[in-house]
Amino acid sequence: MSLVTRFAPSPTGPLHLGHAYSALLAHDMARATGGRFLLRIEDIDTARSRPEWEAQIYDDLSWLGLRWEEPVLRQSERSRVYDAALSDLAARGLIYPCSCRRGDIRAAVSAPQEGVAAPPVYPGTCRGRAMATRKPGDALRLDLARGLASLTDRLPLRFEETGAAMQGSHAVTAEILLRETGDPVLGRKDVAEVSYLLAAVIDDADQAVTTVIRGADLFETTFPQVLLQALLDLPMPIYHHHRLIRDAAGKRLAKRDDARAIATYRAESAGPEDIRAMVGLPPAPIQASGAISSASSPSRTAR
Ligand code: GLU
Repeated sequence: MSLVTRFAPSPTGPLHLGHAYSALLAHDMARATGGRFLLRIEDIDTARSRPEWEAQIYDDLSWLGLRWEEPVLRQSERSRVYDAALSDLAARGLIYPCSCRRGDIRAAVSAPQEGVAAPPVYPGTCRGRAMATRKPGDALRLDLARGLASLTDRLPLRFEETGAAMQGSHAVTAEILLRETGDPVLGRKDVAEVSYLLAAVIDDADQAVTTVIRGADLFETTFPQVLLQALLDLPMPIYHHHRLIRDAAGKRLAKRDDARAIATYRAESAGPEDIRAMVGLPPAPIQASGAISSASSPSRTAR
């Protein structure tokens, strides 16, 4: 099968070795099957996203030898698509407005990370509120129990994982979702219109991604994402969660680890092959002509 893979960075800091591994792996896996490699800029958190980080992403990935299809999908340009999904869920009575804690909502805008505590499971304080009672600044939460009830004939949902550590078929049960996820935040007007959770699911479907390749710290996120796919009738990709690149102390690299930023290695005259070796990837395979759909300049094309 020809894979369609994607790398989906948030332009909120420099790319480091962990990002390089994820992007190179997604690129190599697509290339090995004569497939397509896509890039998506996850810039819905407008308070933290910066054009200079986005420019650096294109520059670093290009330097690493990666080529991707244009135009690049930028989430900040897709609020209409996300709004339509929220309206659909609202019309079916599956989301409700919530005026509870900001911390949860801030967390919903970015993808979860290892070492950053997940917000506690939401107790459902605002559950049952009608959409008509939404006030400016209220979040929108998915009513998990209602969503599950609308899918009874399809439960448990399942997804396929090909990453070595979690390989196999995983059941997305009501029990896991209610215990681990609670009613997730899907939208909020004054921070971002949509959560990472929902935007990523819609974009993976719109980009026809066959294989979601990302760090193992996002494995748990797959459970509510698979539920959203079922509720929105979206195709379900295969998941491939890869090992995390860690520092000498065993900690996952974070955006603030400037010492391991690709830009720092570049400034120290390392080459792309050095980066591949550092993250444990073999030298770049010789590219068969036409294996990756033509990707031209590393800059983004206006959409
Ligand atoms: N934008 C997310 C991050 O920077 C990646 C999300 C994903 O790959 O699904 O961690």
